[in-house]
Amino acid sequence: MEKIHSQILIIGAGPGGYVAAIYGAIKGMKVTLVDKKRVGGTCLNVGCIPTKALVKAADIFAETKKSAAYGIHFENASIDMKQTIAKKDEITKTLTDGIAFLLNKHGVDYVQGTASFLNNTEVEVSGDFGSKVYTADKIIIATGSKTKHLPIPGLDNDFVVDSEGLLANEVLPESMTVIGGGIIGMEFAFIYGQLGVKVEVLEFLPNILPNIDKDLSQRLLRFAKQNNINITTGARVTKIEKEANGNAIVTYIHKDVEKTTTSNLVLEAVGREPEFSGLNLEKTDIKIGKNRGIEVDETMKTNLDHIYAVGDATNIMQLAHVASHQAINAIDNILGHKSAMNYRFIPSVIFTSPQIATVGFSEAELQQEGIEYTTHRVPFSSNGKALILESNYGFIKLLQKAVTKEIIGAQVFGADAEHLIAPLTIALKNNLSLEDIKETVFAHPTTSEMIHEGFLGLNGEAIHYLG
Ligand code: NAD
Repeated sequence: MEKIHSQILIIGAGPGGYVAAIYGAIKGMKVTLVDKKRVGGTCLNVGCIPTKALVKAADIFAETKKSAAYGIHFENASIDMKQTIAKKDEITKTLTDGIAFLLNKHGVDYVQGTASFLNNTEVEVSGDFGSKVYTADKIIIATGSKTKHLPIPGLDNDFVVDSEGLLANEVLPESMTVIGGGIIGMEFAFIYGQLGVKVEVLEFLPNILPNIDKDLSQRLLRFAKQNNINITTGARVTKIEKEANGNAIVTYIHKDVEKTTTSNLVLEAVGREPEFSGLNLEKTDIKIGKNRGIEVDETMKTNLDHIYAVGDATNIMQLAHVASHQAINAIDNILGHKSAMNYRFIPSVIFTSPQIATVGFSEAELQQEGIEYTTHRVPFSSNGKALILESNYGFIKLLQKAVTKEIIGAQVFGADAEHLIAPLTIALKNNLSLEDIKETVFAHPTTSEMIHEGFLGLNGEAIHYLG
């Protein structure tokens, strides 16, 4: 069998793998990148990007309903889901084609095929071309994650889909049951709810979005109701059955009572787990950690000196931007530039309507760690642009360490949260002082002025609200 050697062999071409490949090539390395599918991984093909294209469609539709306040009237706005899906596919194709173009321009050898370890140093890649064996000075595993499935009967019914299946769905159902009120479940609940679908969310834990502070998730409930979304927390789904008319009956236990809900479609969104299928990790000595991901140190190196792992395969934080950052970190370390991953100030955005964005410590984490803190809230109702955007219900919350007065957490609920979290991340990551932000000029009229106001407010100097 043909044997090929490169400086770096990267397995998986998602936001972890393709970023490592391009960055490695820019740094002058000979890179081979392998993926069994199109470049882009889950995020670009069946995750972040296509989901947010549907969020955009749902937002446009919702705007037509709210536009009367501005004197703009739409007669019977309707949605052609087939066209929506086609537009989403066009966006993902443009993006993945762009990545393929960049890989090519940077001289990355992209091989479409399935990679399987033969031992600690050799990887067999099989595809349309047959099979080849690859070796490399360093190997980076970036194989991503896959949908987790519940151990319950009825998941094989044709009306049960995961997020990938829902992204391809061209027929808007009348009703949908969402199992799991995490990020995927809630983002799809809002997309479909805004499009007029009756949505029932069943969440096992006492709160939806269990990883964010309760005041944020509780506030979202009001908006869920306005968008045709009914939420039951503390619900354990036990089985799914098909009615004679083809509808889905989902059975769940709520407060010790067995209940059912009927709908046309069921979304299973109970988490994701690392994807190692076909990789033959068992033929290597690579160590799997307690979190079921590949164990890595802060340089992204596994227990083997020549093998690194990044992204969801490590199961440290299932976020595309974390994967990309880990990828750059891994390459820098491979090049001998010591660089340690730090997960303290990773921003996260939940694309519900309204959006929620967070960075740094949450209140729950601070309480758990026994760190004394104070909170400071900037109301969106104090900001001109927020009023124009009809987002006067939102807020920015800053968490300040009681002893040192450092800002160690920030949360945004409301319009532009996805954008507001970026300057907040810069401020927190770089430990900018109240004075630093006070002396920074923020453009008017923008929602970002609230960040300035918030830091002034921490000093009792807020101009536009009573701090
Ligand atoms: P998740 O872990 O965020 O949520 C899964 C939810 O399902 C949890 O709330 C859990 O309690 C619930 N659940 C588990 N078993 C259940 C049961 N039997 N019945 C009812 N509920 C049950 O997972 P996800 O939403 O599938 O997302 C997967 C990963 O992808 C997450 O790590 C998420 O952060 C990431 N993601 C991020 C974004 C974003 O950043 N905008 C978007 C999508 C996904």
